[in-house]
Amino acid sequence: MAVKSVDVLLVGGGVMSATLGVLLKQLEPSINILMIERNEKVGLESSDGWNNAGTGHAAYCELNYTPERPDGSIDMDKAVSINSAFEISLQFWSYLVNKGFFPDPQHFINRTPHQSFVWGEDNVEFLRKRHAAMSQHPLFAGMEYSEDPAVLASWMPLIMDGRDPGEKVAGTRVLHGADVDFGSITRDLIYNLAKQPGFELLVSHEVKGFKRLDDQSWSVTIRETIQGKVDRVQSKFVFLGAGGGSLPLLQAAGIEEGVGYGGFPVSGQWLVCKKPEVVERHSAKVYGKAPLGAPPMSVPHLDTRVIDGEKALLFGPFAGFTTKFLKQGSFLDLIKSIRFNNLVPMMRVGIRHTDLTRYLISEVMLSTEDRIECLRSYYPQAQLDDWQLAIAGQRVQIIKKDKKLGGKLEFGTEVIRSADGSLVALLGASPGASTAVETMIGILETSFAKEMASEAWLEKLRDMVPSYGQVLVDDLELLKRVRDYTLTTLKLTPP
Ligand SMILES: Cc1cc2nc3c(=O)[nH]c(=O)nc-3n(C[C@H](O)[C@H](O)[C@H](O)COP(=O)(O)OP(=O)(O)OC[C@H]3O[C@@H](n4cnc5c(N)ncnc54)[C@H](O)[C@@H]3O)c2cc1C
Repeated sequence: MAVKSVDVLLVGGGVMSATLGVLLKQLEPSINILMIERNEKVGLESSDGWNNAGTGHAAYCELNYTPERPDGSIDMDKAVSINSAFEISLQFWSYLVNKGFFPDPQHFINRTPHQSFVWGEDNVEFLRKRHAAMSQHPLFAGMEYSEDPAVLASWMPLIMDGRDPGEKVAGTRVLHGADVDFGSITRDLIYNLAKQPGFELLVSHEVKGFKRLDDQSWSVTIRETIQGKVDRVQSKFVFLGAGGGSLPLLQAAGIEEGVGYGGFPVSGQWLVCKKPEVVERHSAKVYGKAPLGAPPMSVPHLDTRVIDGEKALLFGPFAGFTTKFLKQGSFLDLIKSIRFNNLVPMMRVGIRHTDLTRYLISEVMLSTEDRIECLRSYYPQAQLDDWQLAIAGQRVQIIKKDKKLGGKLEFGTEVIRSADGSLVALLGASPGASTAVETMIGILETSFAKEMASEAWLEKLRDMVPSYGQVLVDDLELLKRVRDYTLTTLKLTPP
């Protein structure tokens, strides 16, 4: 039997593999790519619209990206880096809109003001300081602030209705925030890839194992999930974009750089409302402050969502615990990922993060009524019958070795590459899909370094991402040009 041989193997049909595939095909149309997806369709795990919150993370409203320093000042470093990364996604998506990859930008992205809302003296003080610092910065100029209940009621009527008028409250607003349907992006990108020669998609196939060949390419074992037929594929470059499934694959690949990594799965739930009278009264993503001891990704928010053209409201997330690494995974995922080399980091993290364990237990114990009570602290007049519980996607948080602590829990994303760059894995899920383009370009810069330095690829990159290689905040003229271009192309310009 002849073994199929390709230039690039993309494991997983989520937004990350889709983005990398499109970037590569635009840069080098003759490249041969095979994408393998274990589900019957692509984009059904974390990238699916209902499995994530669809926030185009730009740090406009997410308070966890701007922590307060011990001296009381606001640390904006993370906010600046996330906002800059999102600008790269917006530019790439604009390029693809102009190329006809999407029927319409509103198919996947919709203008949704990004707002923060807090109550209580200390939180109001924090938000005031945050606004004072951020509105001075070119990336966040135009952010509005108010403590006036009447103004806030016009920004977020559901949240202000029925609230104690004596309560100290404050909010900020950025009008050009976005709600993104990453499921639509994934499907549209892969649909377009599948129309091009030199791209093949195999669904209902699972990657099972890896072998390094003498010529430094990879022999990859794949298994058809329905009848169990096993096959092999040979590839020069392998990307493990398998979401929660990336960790076991990294372990199977056996590269030295992956030794010691473990994963801690956190599941999520939303309250969803589709009642038109309620949905029509809220048109924003409103983020609050995370409860004490809660992990950063558990910041509560009340969001307008547009998924497959349908408008709805989402509140959450409520965290949960399961031992699965994928929503459609196995309960044995966690136990099977334990190795001699990651046992210490995992145990250390377990011992040190008792606050997280307590938080997860308390979340798991919540009844539907308890969840509605949480919702009422944002939307005081919420009615139980208007909301349904929905299961979100899985996040596998990274656990890694740490010289000082023995083991460390990370809430971000990490790219792990073999020394020669021929195999790359993406672990973690935050800030996630919003920064997919920057992360994938980063992978190209190391694994395709020679081609990326060529004039042909550089020129194409500047065509796809006009600010490529430049720092937006260092060139305010460029920032303005790029913002005007993306907001207009993606129909995000405020009225
Ligand atoms: C609750 C929640 C809320 C989130 N909110 C946001 C948000 O508001 N904004 C944001 O930007 N990001 C958000 N994210 C993160 C974002 O969803 C993820 O970062 C992103 O979707 C990851 O894409 P991916 O392609 O890596 O993974 P996935 O979309 O999970 O795709 C991986 C694919 O690999 C397949 N696969 C797995 N193992 C194998 C195998 N062995 N062989 C073949 N195929 C395999 C899976 O079936 C899956 O289709 C959120 C995530 C969660 C869970």
